[in-house]
Amino acid sequence: MRKRVYDRVHTPGLLRSLFEHVRGREQMLVRGFGHWPLLLVSFPPGGREAADELRESWLHTLPSLQTPEAEPYHRILSRLPVIVVVLLRSRNVCTCLGHHHPMGTESRLARRLAVDAGCEVGEIDLAWESIRDWQPQPLASLASGVTPNSFARLHFRAALLTVLLLHELEHLAFPDREESSVRNASDEFYTYLLGDLLRQEGAPGFGMLR
Ligand SMILES: [Zn+2]
Ligand SMILES: [Zn+2]
Repeated sequence: MRKRVYDRVHTPGLLRSLFEHVRGREQMLVRGFGHWPLLLVSFPPGGREAADELRESWLHTLPSLQTPEAEPYHRILSRLPVIVVVLLRSRNVCTCLGHHHPMGTESRLARRLAVDAGCEVGEIDLAWESIRDWQPQPLASLASGVTPNSFARLHFRAALLTVLLLHELEHLAFPDREESSVRNASDEFYTYLLGDLLRQEGAPGFGMLR
């Protein structure tokens, strides 16, 4: 049933109709694989780099993770609505890295999309500058064996994917799960993911930290 709804979503028409409703923001549709939700990333001026990074991590980094540590994301992805709206902001007033928006509190964009596409739509927001500043592993950059610039790039990708997937999307998929358990899972996932990205860059030293 999910699949049939998914196939019915007509992308160009959908984007055209949305464009009229969201002035001053751009929209980017990111398709996934199999049972993954379709992401509609909505970003303000200045948010293009973060949106591109999100798309890259969704389409390339996520599928490249196949070891048992990455297993939880399959369970999350299979429980999500057909479409998830991702509202990008540089920062939140409350300083949070992101939020999931419980049913009934979604933006007009998400509600409109649910009507136009005729399917279930979930919504989260992500604050990309706060995610960039997030330091779950303060010592990692010292031990990583890559340049500070490379480290900053890999950290941003790992942090963005962690907050997206194993935090806000996990809340959407499992609304009753405790914050502390979601937080532990996301911190572990970040450590694993950053280590994986560093290994792909050929950096040896990060394993010492785990
Ligand atoms: Zn908040
Ligand atoms: Zn949370």
